[in-house]
Amino acid sequence: AVEASIPEPQREAWLKHQVGAFKDKDGFEREVVRHVETTLARSLFNCDESAAYAACALAFRDRLILEWNRTQQRQTFADSKRVYYLSLEFLMGRALDNAMLNVGQKDLAKAGLAELGFRIEDVIQQEHDAALGNGGLGRLAACFLDSLASLNLPAWGYGLRYRYGIFKQEIIDGYQVEVPDYWLDFNPWEFPRHDVTVDIQFYGSVRKSTDDSGKTVCNWEGGETVKAVAYDVPIPGYGTPTTNNLRLWSSKAASGEFDFQKFNSGDYESSVADQQRAETISAVLYPNDNLDRGKELRLKQQYFWVAASLYDIVRRFKKSKRPWKEFPEQVAIQLNDTHPTLAIVELQRILIDLEGLEWDEAWNIVVNTFGYTNHTVLPEALEKWSVPLIQHLLPRHLQIIYEINLYFLQSVETKFPGDRDLLRDVSIIEEAQPKMVRMAFLAIIGSHKVNGVAELHSDLIKTTIFKDFVKIFGPDKFTNVTNGITPRRWLHQANPRLSELIASKTGGHGFLTDLTELNRLENCIHDKKFRKEWAEIKYANKVRLAKHIKAATGVTVNPSALFDVQVKRIHEYKRQQMNIFGVIHRYLTLKAMAPEQRQKEMPRVSIFGGKAAPGYWMAKQIIHLINSVGAVVNNDKDIGDLLKVVFLEDYNVSKAEIIIPASDLSEHISTAGTEASGTSNMKFVLNGGLIIGTCDGANIEITREIGGQNIFLFGHLAEEVEDLRHAHVYEKQHSVDSGLKAVFEEIEKGTFGTPQDFAGMISAVRDHGDFYLVSDDFQSYIVTQNLVDQEYLNQEEWITKCIKSVARMGFFSSDRCINEYAEEIWNIEPLKVEANRPAGQTS
Ligand code: PLP
Repeated sequence: AVEASIPEPQREAWLKHQVGAFKDKDGFEREVVRHVETTLARSLFNCDESAAYAACALAFRDRLILEWNRTQQRQTFADSKRVYYLSLEFLMGRALDNAMLNVGQKDLAKAGLAELGFRIEDVIQQEHDAALGNGGLGRLAACFLDSLASLNLPAWGYGLRYRYGIFKQEIIDGYQVEVPDYWLDFNPWEFPRHDVTVDIQFYGSVRKSTDDSGKTVCNWEGGETVKAVAYDVPIPGYGTPTTNNLRLWSSKAASGEFDFQKFNSGDYESSVADQQRAETISAVLYPNDNLDRGKELRLKQQYFWVAASLYDIVRRFKKSKRPWKEFPEQVAIQLNDTHPTLAIVELQRILIDLEGLEWDEAWNIVVNTFGYTNHTVLPEALEKWSVPLIQHLLPRHLQIIYEINLYFLQSVETKFPGDRDLLRDVSIIEEAQPKMVRMAFLAIIGSHKVNGVAELHSDLIKTTIFKDFVKIFGPDKFTNVTNGITPRRWLHQANPRLSELIASKTGGHGFLTDLTELNRLENCIHDKKFRKEWAEIKYANKVRLAKHIKAATGVTVNPSALFDVQVKRIHEYKRQQMNIFGVIHRYLTLKAMAPEQRQKEMPRVSIFGGKAAPGYWMAKQIIHLINSVGAVVNNDKDIGDLLKVVFLEDYNVSKAEIIIPASDLSEHISTAGTEASGTSNMKFVLNGGLIIGTCDGANIEITREIGGQNIFLFGHLAEEVEDLRHAHVYEKQHSVDSGLKAVFEEIEKGTFGTPQDFAGMISAVRDHGDFYLVSDDFQSYIVTQNLVDQEYLNQEEWITKCIKSVARMGFFSSDRCINEYAEEIWNIEPLKVEANRPAGQTS
């Protein structure tokens, strides 16, 4: 037992006074009051909601850190294999609600807060989102952390503690304006570990020397050093004491606060310059989703984070005194996309330069340690770094990259003698001006498994961007792990009433840890009372969203209308432009109708949300068009409630928790073959909404699971895309679909403001090859949307589809997904932590 680690003479005292879970409401209230009065130094009569939040969060944090301690001790004593999830993004959202639900004490907190004069919903809303990510990739990492802890798997996340997360989006006069998101004013969920620091080196040069045994040794010398400081965030599992760790690194000047010599000589400005330069490294998250910009600071961030994390992992391994060859039996490292690929090079460097291993032995350890998850086939998102930049910043790493490449190309040459084209195509170094390092190739070569994130995507990487590597390594190195989502946050927390209704019909909350239990709902499809409650819950969620829309935009929407939602990063491949063109088409169709006929149409609210990368001009045009269309349509007396168009600013995790449960129809309409998986598609269906979508990413597996009659699929297939694009290029002017042509003409007439503002969006389709196939898919999209209208009119049939779909969503739990990683890639086992005893109980 963990207790055995406390020396006998002191054990009783420690155990007697250990802090336990709140025994009751009183125990919780006592802690809240104590934190208000002492930690926050606020008196009780001026305790507002934000102080109540702070105290409540601190009270729960105290509990979590206890479980955290026990979990870490247990994992250390058991000496079992751990997995380290390296992700440059963790889109965590809020923590308090999640913590209360996962430790099973939300009801108690609700009652306690009520006695102290607060509504728990208001208190929860005081929390600032932890928005250390752009979109799907970062949110996936957050869902994975929840599953890892809930499945009792020994796991740590490693990331960067950005001072500024993803920017806050404001919509001013219909345009996106970016505002910095400073989220660290008060963050009770992190523990600074000023004793856990790592010095990280940059720049400098490599000097060769000979050691005592006559072996050549490479010494990386000079340059500058920056300090990495650890901040730990406890990650509670659901219904288990296991509390894992997310360690985020923050950068600081290595040389203390500032240069005293400069300070004393009166050079105040430059005395703090070093400090500021060092702190810049972890200052800000790059706000690009699926786009590589190749900026030096980004590479610095990557190395800083990877080097600090590996130092930490290696230090932990070395404590076990095991031989190096056992490293992969103790450590699995998963690379979330190519952002942490330098970890492969860094581990090789540690093993050969610092620990004195031979190249082959070291490389064997490296390859058996790493797994790489690919998230995209979009060429603009595939990371490449220029050789001169790496040479300058990380001279020793560049040498190692060249050596890895040399040995790899030699092995290729042996297997495929004389195939110069193949050597050029698979080389880590791209022969360009300047030469570039292809990070995905390095990640494949340095990992034992490579996975895509949905079946279609995993097939595509094997037949397109990585096909040569399948030839070289064989197909077994490549696998698929379809993404998943945590049902704790995305059902239980976001949609509590639906969660309770499901619990009442499936024999309790077991579905939250085994999502396949949802299939029990199939028995309730004809249960009238259940169906009525189901519909009431959806309506109540829509009322809640309608209130939010009113408060945020001033637009009144009718909760009985069909809520049609597209919320995700704004990107041409995700095709929000097709959606808004479709909305204009609907508007024109309604306007052309006689009033009596018009009134028979199904009212609809088109809801958009999502951030555009600040430098992504086309995405910003799309936002502007959506808002401009809204301004016209929402004020057109002929149209009234039949069509409303709203853009909700600053889409983030906590907004998603309000929006997703209120959707009737959500749009996942990427050009086939471009969206690796998507995860919000899963969230919408799990919350009883249907999907209109293309045969792309996880939409395909969702269709397989829920049945083709329960999803509105349209558009061309992935295998048709290349031929269509090719044909566009050879047509002088792309022959635009007639319905879409009418839409373009309306925009060009000035109906939605200055036509020039939207000229780029139109000419991308009409004059520049329509790369995303908006015109090719437009008719099929409109026809399918009309089918949605008809089917929505039959509410009984619609509800049946929704219930059936939810019942069949079990596959998409991130628990299933993490179990696949654990078995197929990491080879790790769960390790249970004993529950903490109530305070005062010593035996
Ligand atoms: N952004 C936020 C805030 C999210 O919550 C999610 C998923 O829920 C995403 C982005 C990813 O959405 P999608 O899978 O539609 O790209």
